[in-house]
Amino acid sequence: MPFYRLGIGIVHMKGSKLPAPCAARVLIEGKEAACLAPSGFLCDGPSKSGKGTCDAAMCERHATQVGPNSHLCPSCRTEAVDEIGQRNLFTHLVQP
Ligand SMILES: [Zn+2]
Ligand SMILES: [Zn+2]
Repeated sequence: MPFYRLGIGIVHMKGSKLPAPCAARVLIEGKEAACLAPSGFLCDGPSKSGKGTCDAAMCERHATQVGPNSHLCPSCRTEAVDEIGQRNLFTHLVQP
């Protein structure tokens, strides 16, 4: 049962089929905290361990679409931009 950050504060939702809360780091009142909005996407970036994908849960606001059904979380997006440059991000990740 996930906790979500909604307009009114942290809300504990009951239920088993709920999306994971967004894992992106945000600044809330000057402090870093997890976004915790209900997620709609999973990160398709490379995992830190080198196996599989990152799979970080992201809300619509924090997902960056880089191809058909392909999204990056903010930290994978930053790494991809550092590595290949903003200009090439889209073409690099989209398979023909
Ligand atoms: Zn978010
Ligand atoms: Zn990621």
